[in-house]
Amino acid sequence: RTVYVNGEFLPEDQAKISIFDRAFLMADGVYEVTSVLGGKLIDFSGHLKRLARSLDALEMVNPLSDDEWLSIHRKLVEVNGIDEGLVYLQVTRGAPGDRDFAWPDPATCPPGVVLFTQNKPGLADSPAAKVGMKVISIPDIRWGRRDIKTTQLLYPSMGKMMAKKAGADDAWLVEDGLVTEGTSNNTYIVKGNQIITRQLSTDILHGITRAAVLTFAREAQMEVVERPFTIAEAQQADEAFITSASAFVMPVVEIDGATLGDGKPGRVASRMREIYLDEMRKAAI
Ligand code: PMP
Repeated sequence: RTVYVNGEFLPEDQAKISIFDRAFLMADGVYEVTSVLGGKLIDFSGHLKRLARSLDALEMVNPLSDDEWLSIHRKLVEVNGIDEGLVYLQVTRGAPGDRDFAWPDPATCPPGVVLFTQNKPGLADSPAAKVGMKVISIPDIRWGRRDIKTTQLLYPSMGKMMAKKAGADDAWLVEDGLVTEGTSNNTYIVKGNQIITRQLSTDILHGITRAAVLTFAREAQMEVVERPFTIAEAQQADEAFITSASAFVMPVVEIDGATLGDGKPGRVASRMREIYLDEMRKAAI
């Protein structure tokens, strides 16, 4: 596989970064994951906008123009022959050459840029979407700026492992009795004609997929209600689902051992997945 590191396209086993890179030492970096369908990038402009927002929030400079980001993405997709898969991009505060809590002067410490692809055949036609996911709930003990997409992913990773050990697929995070989001996705419940999902704030990541799905939901005459909900309310809902750039729309059929409805993926979730994939394929670049 060919990867991109600081201006160069290289075979992955020849790519090198400094041991002083601040993302390695301090998770001082941000990232984006864009899905690829039919060899094309899904919602790429949304990911670039959020990248700019994350960089801004951490007073980091965007090292590349939107056109440069696009051409690197396209080149990696092409050379690695990705039909369905993902492109991961990471921007770090760079490698100052020593370890220090204070940030280096950006004039003397250029950002670190790493991109790679992940081949995922069957990403869109996922068997998991036909079965639905089981989730457990765990306390949300993450930091207070979850709207910044940093590489600080230890707790989400622990949450995934807790879910696995419990025989589930993922964990929903709960703070003050209310669901914030999933370990790596935004969370929704469906009641009648309403799609309910937590409102945007610093408490959750502003999902690119969330924004698109809510637009499509409104166009499909669903009522979108942006408010938090409890696990108990979710367990009583008609349906539940999650969204993310790599899972698209994925139905949830069990929450903390309680089966939703008949235990099959819900009608609204399945329809939203279909609409999302159709519309995003059309707009892919
Ligand atoms: N919340 C968290 C914590 C995430 O890690 C992700 C995936 N990056 C999302 C939500 C979904 O965001 P997106 O739709 O932009 O992938």
